[in-house]
Amino acid sequence: MEIFKEIASLKAFLKQFRQPGDSIGFVPTMGALHAGHLVLVQASRKENTLTVCSIFVNPTQFNNPGDLAKYPNTLQHDVELLEKVGCDVLFCPTQTEMYPHQDHIRFDFGFLDKILEGEFRPGHFSGVGLVVSKLLNIVAPQRAYFGQKDFQQAMIVRKLVADLNLDVVLKLVPTIREPDGLAMSSRNTRLSADHRKSALVFYKGLQKAKTLLQARVPFDAVQEEIKQFCESQPEIKLEYLALADSTNLSLLKSVTPQSILLIAGYAGEVRLIDNLMMNDEN
Ligand code: AMP
Repeated sequence: MEIFKEIASLKAFLKQFRQPGDSIGFVPTMGALHAGHLVLVQASRKENTLTVCSIFVNPTQFNNPGDLAKYPNTLQHDVELLEKVGCDVLFCPTQTEMYPHQDHIRFDFGFLDKILEGEFRPGHFSGVGLVVSKLLNIVAPQRAYFGQKDFQQAMIVRKLVADLNLDVVLKLVPTIREPDGLAMSSRNTRLSADHRKSALVFYKGLQKAKTLLQARVPFDAVQEEIKQFCESQPEIKLEYLALADSTNLSLLKSVTPQSILLIAGYAGEVRLIDNLMMNDEN
C-alpha cells in the first residue's frame, strides 16, 4: 500500500490512474478502523481499479473539543488492516496540510443540518461538508463509499455532490454490527465494560420501536416507551429517537414503506448513533 501525507504527492501519484477505463474508489474515514470501515474498502475494491482510503480526524466537524481530544488514534494498526484487505493507497494528512489557514469556509445544508445530528451537534455538518469537499477534490474519485450507520451524513454528502455538480457516484454500504447487534463504531473502544453492555439498548430500542410501530402504536407513545426502555440501563441518556423518510430525511409521525428509524444518545460519556430501515429484515 502506498502511503501519502501530502496532497501534492498524492495528486501526482493518482495521475497515472486517470486513463480511460480506470476508476478510483474512495473511502474517507477518521481511522481507528474496524470491520465496518473494511467492508467499504472491500466494496470499492470490487468496483474500481484503484482504492484510496483516507484517515483524517477532521477538527472542523467536532463541536465538542473533548470528543476530538479523546478520538482514538491507532494508525499503525489501521495500516495493517488496510494492507490485509488490499487497499491500494492511504492518504493520512496532518491538520496543517488540510487546513493551512485558521479561517475556513462554512456550509449551510438548510433543513438537513438543522435536525437530528445537526440539532444536537451544531456546526458538525458544516465541518463534514468542508472536509468531504476537500477530499473529493483532492482524490477526484469515480465512486465514494459511505456507511449507512451515519445516514444523515450520507444525505448531507448526497446534497453536497448534487449541489456542487461533482462527478462522483456515491455508494451507501449497510451497517456492520458486533455479534450482539451493537453498530460498530470507533467510539466503541472508549466504552467501559459496563457501558458497552448498556450501549446495546440503542439497537434493541430501534428493534423494539420497529415492532411497536408495526403493531400500529402511535409514534409519540413509541418515543416515550423507548426513552424509558433505554434510560432504564445504567448511564444511558437518549437524545432522540426519530422516524424519517429515508429519501429526504423529512420527519414522520407514521410509518411509510421508505421510513427509517434513527437513534442517538450517550452511554456514559460516549455519544453513539444508529438507525434501522423499517423495511429491512433485521
Ligand atoms: P468514521 O471513521 O466514523 O468517520 O467513518 C468512516 C466511514 O465508515 C463512514 O462512511 C461511516 O458511515 C462508515 N462506517 C462507520 N461505522 C460503520 C459500520 N459499523 N458499518 C458500516 N460503515 C460504517
